Amino acid sequence: MTFNDSSLPPVLPEDAASLVAAVTGSVLLPGDAGYDDERAVFNLNHDLVPAVIVVAESTADVRAAVAFAAGQHRPVLVKTTGHQMVGPAHGAVVIATRRMNDVAIDAVGRTARVGAGAIWAEVVKKAAEAGLAPLNGSNPTVGVSGYTLGGGLSPTLGRSHGYAADHVRSLDVVTADGELRHVNAQSEPDLFWALRGGKGNFGVATALEFDLFPVPRLYGGGIYFPGERTADVLRAWTAWHPGTPETMISSFAVLRLRALPQLPESLYGEFVVHLRIAYNGTAADGERMVAPLRAVAPALLDTVADMPYTKVASIHNETTEPVPYYERSIMLREFPADALDKLVELAGPDSANTLTMVELRALGGAWDREPAVPNAVATRGLPYVLLGVAGGPVSEEQQLKESVAVLLDGMEPWRGDRRLVNNLAPDEATDAAAIYGPERYKRLAAVKKTYDPTNMFRINHNVAPAA
Ligand SMILES: Cc1cc2nc3c(=O)[nH]c(=O)nc-3n(C[C@H](O)[C@H](O)[C@H](O)COP(=O)(O)OP(=O)(O)OC[C@H]3O[C@@H](n4cnc5c(N)ncnc54)[C@H](O)[C@@H]3O)c2cc1C
Repeated sequence: MTFNDSSLPPVLPEDAASLVAAVTGSVLLPGDAGYDDERAVFNLNHDLVPAVIVVAESTADVRAAVAFAAGQHRPVLVKTTGHQMVGPAHGAVVIATRRMNDVAIDAVGRTARVGAGAIWAEVVKKAAEAGLAPLNGSNPTVGVSGYTLGGGLSPTLGRSHGYAADHVRSLDVVTADGELRHVNAQSEPDLFWALRGGKGNFGVATALEFDLFPVPRLYGGGIYFPGERTADVLRAWTAWHPGTPETMISSFAVLRLRALPQLPESLYGEFVVHLRIAYNGTAADGERMVAPLRAVAPALLDTVADMPYTKVASIHNETTEPVPYYERSIMLREFPADALDKLVELAGPDSANTLTMVELRALGGAWDREPAVPNAVATRGLPYVLLGVAGGPVSEEQQLKESVAVLLDGMEPWRGDRRLVNNLAPDEATDAAAIYGPERYKRLAAVKKTYDPTNMFRINHNVAPAA
């Protein structure tokens, strides 16, 4: 089924009146005060222009918004933080969940129950008060919901514990029929399987309950080397990390550093190699393990040290402010010596590459193991994820996208099938069968047919309902 949502008419104030009466949150039409704030997203090159935004304050608000969309035959897009929007959402109902951001920690049961709008910074902070940690991502402002529904690859605890989706105990979800469902392995097993990895295709998650882990501190941080040493650092890291325990998580990136307040000014704009280290073990063991990496070359900056888990965002040190960029990512099924040489050729100091970031994360360990209650996460068994990010404005779109394509096309011989849903770009909304692999996609499409037969939730990396 093909939809042309751009032909949907605007929502008229008289149409919206019933919605305004039904919700306690805000209902915003284009031109209303607050509409522009609520349609703002993380990637400044992406424009969101829905017919109406419901800034939900409760599950009842979400149900009212879904019922309104159904009545008007409009698609629904859920926005938590706007870190991964797909399409402009013409004619759509956007449900903004950011006000539903309660975070409750059960220190004894070692779980968190969070509202749809919670972000990782808040969960990390509250969990740490009980000496616990979640399977958070690299960036503190990313939303728990989108991240977890898309699998959730934690670069600090994932290699030993698996994907964040593997540790979801239950979800409260409003489906396309407006029903609120408490979804767990017993109550709705197919939906529970699909939501954990199949992302926003099946409804609006209004709350999630997931495991926390007793990790009050880490030995972690970043080692920044001059970009000229790309080949030496990459060679040393790829030889080193497979021999490390699952409690040692590391990744490699080539960066053109932004002016970030956490960095010394002398590094602003510099071309550097960044090794990221997160070791859940003693500082003494960590220091011993990391020594061969430190020996590769004199570092420009080395922040790897014993740290409270609350400082976890400093490991990747990413911007939390919205920025303009284009990005794309692939999985690699192997990374032999000729792949390493090719990556150096494409991203190293002698390349024409001007990308803001070329990142290689090593996977394996618990990321490869199916959880006790299997889910739809598609990337098990693939050892690396490669991401290219080209920072720059819309006016340079073609050139920026080409520079990402040069990187990824160059690595094509080692590309794995299947994709990490959380790394998909806005314009990669098609071909979900290739993203998930045919068998998993077939099952997802069958679940979609049961819970969203009209494809209300289609402004995403879409799984179409089975025919
Ligand atoms: C700087 C940066 C760093 C990142 N680091 C990591 C990382 O380390 N590991 C990783 O796995 N990913 C990472 N990501 C990717 C991130 O997980 C995705 O962008 C994710 O979609 C963000 O979720 P969100 O809720 O913040 O985003 P949003 O843009 O608000 O949501 C994206 C989509 O998720 C779905 N969604 C969100 N909330 C709900 C909900 N309540 N119910 C149903 N569907 C929902 C919807 O389809 C929505 O359109 C990173 C992204 C950025 C920009």
